[in-house]
Amino acid sequence: MSESLSPQPTIRKDAYPRIQTTTWDMLQVLSRYWLRRPWHFGCSLLLVAIMSGADVLRPILAGELVDALVESISVSAESVTVSTALTLFIALEFCALAVKWLHSRVWNFFAASNMHELLEETFERVQQFSADWHASTFAGATVRKVTRGKNAYDSISNIFWIHFLQLGLMLIGISAVMIWKFPAVGALFSAATVIYIAMSAVLVVYYVRPANVLSAEADSGIGAALADSLTNNAVVKSFGAEHREGIRFLSYTRKWSARARTAWNRGQDLAAMQQMLWTLLQLSTMYLVIDFAFAGQASAGDLTFLLTTSFVMGAQVRQVGDHIRQLQRNASEFADVVDFHKREPQVRDVPQAQILATPRGQIDFDRVTFAYSRHTAPIYEDFSIQIHPGEKVGLVGASGAGKTTFVKLVQRLYDLDGGTIRIDGRAIDQVTQASLRRAVALVPQDPHLFHRTLAENIAYTRPDATFSEIRFAAERARAAEFIDQLEQGYNTLVGERGVKLSGGERQRVAIARAFLADAPIVIFDEATSSLDTITEGYIQDAMAELMQGRTTLIIAHRLSTVHDVDRILVFEQGRIVEQGNHQALMQTPTGVYRALYEKQQHAA
Ligand code: ATP
Repeated sequence: MSESLSPQPTIRKDAYPRIQTTTWDMLQVLSRYWLRRPWHFGCSLLLVAIMSGADVLRPILAGELVDALVESISVSAESVTVSTALTLFIALEFCALAVKWLHSRVWNFFAASNMHELLEETFERVQQFSADWHASTFAGATVRKVTRGKNAYDSISNIFWIHFLQLGLMLIGISAVMIWKFPAVGALFSAATVIYIAMSAVLVVYYVRPANVLSAEADSGIGAALADSLTNNAVVKSFGAEHREGIRFLSYTRKWSARARTAWNRGQDLAAMQQMLWTLLQLSTMYLVIDFAFAGQASAGDLTFLLTTSFVMGAQVRQVGDHIRQLQRNASEFADVVDFHKREPQVRDVPQAQILATPRGQIDFDRVTFAYSRHTAPIYEDFSIQIHPGEKVGLVGASGAGKTTFVKLVQRLYDLDGGTIRIDGRAIDQVTQASLRRAVALVPQDPHLFHRTLAENIAYTRPDATFSEIRFAAERARAAEFIDQLEQGYNTLVGERGVKLSGGERQRVAIARAFLADAPIVIFDEATSSLDTITEGYIQDAMAELMQGRTTLIIAHRLSTVHDVDRILVFEQGRIVEQGNHQALMQTPTGVYRALYEKQQHAA
């Protein structure tokens, strides 16, 4: 019986697991943004303090108003104090409204500016992570983490600097007034409120938070699974695998649904406990107040003050639980952004890295050792080779022999485990990555384009290029022919990853890019492997023109592509087993190259 694949997919473990972040790490990143605009931040805190003052004054003025009314009724005459108390009350409401409005303006500017900078800086950091980090991480999950992190920042800031600050100041103010007027009620009220907040915090940290962390993790998994499947939609369609993908996705959504349910249920448990405690506190306060009234120790105004305070505070404190719950959820989401800010880029420029200016294109591999991860066997060990300026070199060999790795190392997409790679005698890890990458133009096997116009895609290597330069590059790349036939010409949008263009058209756009880059080193990675003969002819003409005067590396499976190059390097398991030009290699009767070549000729 044949074994079938399990319908339950393995959910991939991240090769770069999230860095452990403490609350302190989180506060460091948050405060970096909070303190960026000290005037706005300070002004906002001051306005919140004024709003809290208004909240403390409101019950006092309400009490004064009731006392004044009672007094005027009992003496059966209109009292001046009633109109004064009323005027004060109305003035307070209008002032509170104006302060609230002003605060919202200041805060909106502060929050929006910080959020856009947070997004920008997080994006910049993620862009700096190595090719390996990106290869090991789901782009969909990263997108979700960045956008969720931005919203989490907003929510955490609101809770801290508006809700909690306002509540804290109100608590201090009202407790002080209560203790001054009715020490017993004030003491009960303050103590119970502190207990209530402490209990909420403990339950949230140890009961609700763990569930929220798991739920956020599953949520990122959904983003990753969606992106993985949707970006490969063409493959899914070609195998009629929509249903299979649906089942696979279901396992992610099920996992999320179970975790989210647990997190929500725990949140509701907490809310119910908080509600019960607060109701008990309110009942006890009311009981004490009514007792005071019967004993003749409290006026109608005092009763009004106590009851209003109790209800105003009740409404605020009831929300504490919601805020703490939300804070926890946001903290788990913001932890991803903290990870991005704490994680050092895996490939870094050394301090005072030099610029690789106007290189000639000599490449030296000097006793290079490299493994993709420390736990796997090295692809290259003690590997040395020299490529001269302007030399055309073909890299051939079986699949997995290390040809693509060779060109990735030239671009320093990975750091070496040993040895040095030099360009024009300068170690590539001592020059800036930007200047190194500018010196190398790559025409990949399956060029990915941005969902932008053709002109923007061609000018990607030189955004300052003029239209005539773009057009000239397109002509040399034999791309102008097909671009001119498009209705929108160079302004045509090419679709996500360039899906609206054929493989040969994308290839020519990539060659046009390389022409515009005018780099001394050009790399072709199987550039013509999947094209028909006519298109291949076009592209080979373009390639030949691009190669002139430049050091060229051509990765080729079809050996006819490298027939005319100066030197062919034959790779086998990370070693060069033969080298020489086509004629020289064909002279060795038992050579690897000759065997491969003859096999291909025979097959053709
Ligand atoms: P092909 O002709 O099929 O493109 P290649 O000669 O270019 O193959 P490389 O892509 O250099 O081979 O791969 C060499 C080895 O390194 C292979 O065994 C491959 O599985 C492994 N490898 C390539 N990229 C990675 C990566 N990002 N992480 C781990 N291993 C990798």
